[in-house]
Amino acid sequence: MTEPFPPSSFVAPDPFDWWRGGCEWVRCSARLQELWADRLSSAQARRGKRDARLASLLAHARAHSRLLARHWRGVSPDAPLQALPPSTRGELMAHFDDWVTDPGIRLDEVRRFVADPARVGEAFLGRYAVWTSSGTTGVPGIYVQDEDALAIYGALLSAQADFAPASDPRNFGSTTRLALVAATGGHFAGVVWWQRLCRMYPLLAAQARVFSILEPLDALCESLAAWNPTSIATYPTVLAQLAAEQRAHRLQLAPRTLLSGGEALCSAERHAIEQTFGCPVVEDYGASECMNIAHSCGSHRLHLNDAWVVLEPVDERMNPVSPGEPSFTVLVTNLANQVQPIVRYDLGDSVTIGAEPCDCGDERPTLQVSGRADDVLEFDARHGEFVRVLPLAIETVLEEDSGLSRFQLTQTARDELRLRIECADLHERRSAFDRAEQVLARFLAKQGVAKPVRLHLDDEVPQLDRASGKLRRVRARTRGSSGSAA
Ligand SMILES: [Zn+2]
Repeated sequence: MTEPFPPSSFVAPDPFDWWRGGCEWVRCSARLQELWADRLSSAQARRGKRDARLASLLAHARAHSRLLARHWRGVSPDAPLQALPPSTRGELMAHFDDWVTDPGIRLDEVRRFVADPARVGEAFLGRYAVWTSSGTTGVPGIYVQDEDALAIYGALLSAQADFAPASDPRNFGSTTRLALVAATGGHFAGVVWWQRLCRMYPLLAAQARVFSILEPLDALCESLAAWNPTSIATYPTVLAQLAAEQRAHRLQLAPRTLLSGGEALCSAERHAIEQTFGCPVVEDYGASECMNIAHSCGSHRLHLNDAWVVLEPVDERMNPVSPGEPSFTVLVTNLANQVQPIVRYDLGDSVTIGAEPCDCGDERPTLQVSGRADDVLEFDARHGEFVRVLPLAIETVLEEDSGLSRFQLTQTARDELRLRIECADLHERRSAFDRAEQVLARFLAKQGVAKPVRLHLDDEVPQLDRASGKLRRVRARTRGSSGSAA
């Protein structure tokens, strides 16, 4: 069973963490200056710098990643990026030790590291950050980030002036209280990022708290009300739930900024959340594979961080899609991280590049994302009304506590669920189902669900969504009836 995450972000002080924090601060400040210089330079100069970063990444990958050297064997080093074959998480994870460019990183050691929840945010091999992801493909991913990549991610986050607390003197100091509401109990990107910052910067740790989405909604609201955060960073489905609680007067928060990430945020939902809390929502589009792909501007449009990310929206046959047209999937190249190169990586999101320039004046391309589209599930509550359970919370307990990766849970009635599990071995499939049944029963009871929910094992394998081609792992009875995001 997942251990509840401590509400306080306090971690034992370690002078080495402080030393690393100082080094990262210096690197991050230099990258931030470079970023501002990029913004002020011409489009041609920016493209030149980006191309140089791309050439450096590809040369490093060819020289040090045995897997990518094999994968690109038939393509000339002088060929454009688009000549390289795309890569998927399944292929890359199957050859992890050959994929990474530091031979000191071994999958078995990384697996042992991420199996220990007490090591969240700790530096792996004294220098790398490691996080894990399940995503929609059903193949678990493990991502290692080098020191330069971490400084670049920090700079990109700091450059989001609307959210960065340090950019507004009113937003930092004794009255700053940051809240991250996220999937906890594992080495997930958001929590790793916050925990490592708290380890390195003790002053920040005193002003930041992590809250678990695995907590029942009323308990989560109670903890948030006690902390009274000035900034909240979480998934749009959680923001929508908190806004609903605030409108029902069961919550009285007064945040100054909200940061939405991890899933797509539709404009109607963003508007409702902003109206409810009376503050702006800054949207961040990223993935475990590439942390800061885009972030929103004052005109509520996502701008691509094109200095550090190459994004290629493509159709089913991997041919480029024109601006204004939604893609089937998107290939991402992360120019920041050299230790585990992400090059033309199939992210699975449908992305539409804006055909018109944004009226905010920022020349970087805009995009719209149709990301994960799992549903919030509703059950009868012990004390009348109903309990709403976040899809990501269910996915987290099924993955972490019952070891499922490729599954599909469908709610067929208020007290009935059907589970599809992809597993060739029938005996193992039954055992996985038994584990899932126990884990779900415990989890739903903790959420305040009134009576036992029947779980059936479905003979079918998980089905991809016909429209998006993605695996929706948690589905409500009627699509869209339960206030799902995206
Ligand atoms: Zn804009």
